[in-house]
Amino acid sequence: HQKILGGFRRTSDKLGENLTGLFTKAALDKATLDEIEEALIASDLGPATASRVRERLADERYDKGLDEAEVREIVAQEVAKILAPVAKPLEIEAFPRPQVILVIGVNGSGKTTTIAKLAHYLQEQDYSVMLVAGDTFRAAAIGQLKVWADRIGVPIISGKEGGDAASLVFEGVKQGTATGIDVLIVDTAGRLQNKAGLMDELSKIRRVLGRLNPAAPHDVVLVLDATTGQNALNQIEVFRDTAGVTGLVMTKLDGTARGGVLVAAAEKYGLPVHAIGVGEGLDDLRPFDAVEVARAIAG
Ligand code: GDP
Repeated sequence: HQKILGGFRRTSDKLGENLTGLFTKAALDKATLDEIEEALIASDLGPATASRVRERLADERYDKGLDEAEVREIVAQEVAKILAPVAKPLEIEAFPRPQVILVIGVNGSGKTTTIAKLAHYLQEQDYSVMLVAGDTFRAAAIGQLKVWADRIGVPIISGKEGGDAASLVFEGVKQGTATGIDVLIVDTAGRLQNKAGLMDELSKIRRVLGRLNPAAPHDVVLVLDATTGQNALNQIEVFRDTAGVTGLVMTKLDGTARGGVLVAAAEKYGLPVHAIGVGEGLDDLRPFDAVEVARAIAG
């Protein structure tokens, strides 16, 4: 819990900063309400949330004046309302095995680290995990995933740089089935700059998977870097349209004042948020708890 509070400290500090100056005002007039709404939007909280906070302040506080604790409480409640419906842990179904999770995201988003954290988390829940190094465009990505696989002790299917990702996935499902693996986590190339290439590659992976198991992939998890703020929202849009995203993991919430973007994303896209990344270590993937995160953001 401390880690999550710490993770959002910058976001809540930023919110406080944006609101500072307003709290010295005695009256909660229209101009002040406008300023509060703008301050919330400037903190990346999303226009619908900002407008609901404004309405509630107008309804509940107009006669009483402005009180910092009261504003934060209302922000926390409204943020929790937006986040609660999207807080959904990744569910591993019993059949068929292996469950296949495709992990997508632009380079640098924290994709590789998230795969390692997720594999570690699943291992702790007694699932057997296998990785597929499907980001064959970057030799570094293959190498890094192998290092993680070694460290946490899970098998990995990998090939050469420039190799065919779909055949690695095929091999992964084959070996995973033969050895009774519960979950196959597939890294993929995050080439947003080449949308056609990205689509081709992902649809080829899907075709191969579909032939082996019509339900696969069971999840398509998009990894987003919170420090990129509004840019993360654009990425959701592009990947949703090209890859059929089923859920999100937002990383680097410990290193940014832009954690509010999680709220904007929930508001705009309503995609499940499976977990959040609050550090570089294996244990720094946290379940996404709407109330806890809302309190941490509101400060
Ligand atoms: P990829 O290129 O998307 O595979 O990204 P990586 O997994 O290699 O991560 C890029 C950098 O971000 C690495 O230095 C990671 O240690 C770091 N990183 C990943 N997730 C987090 C996180 O939740 N918090 C912090 N502070 N750093 C992270």
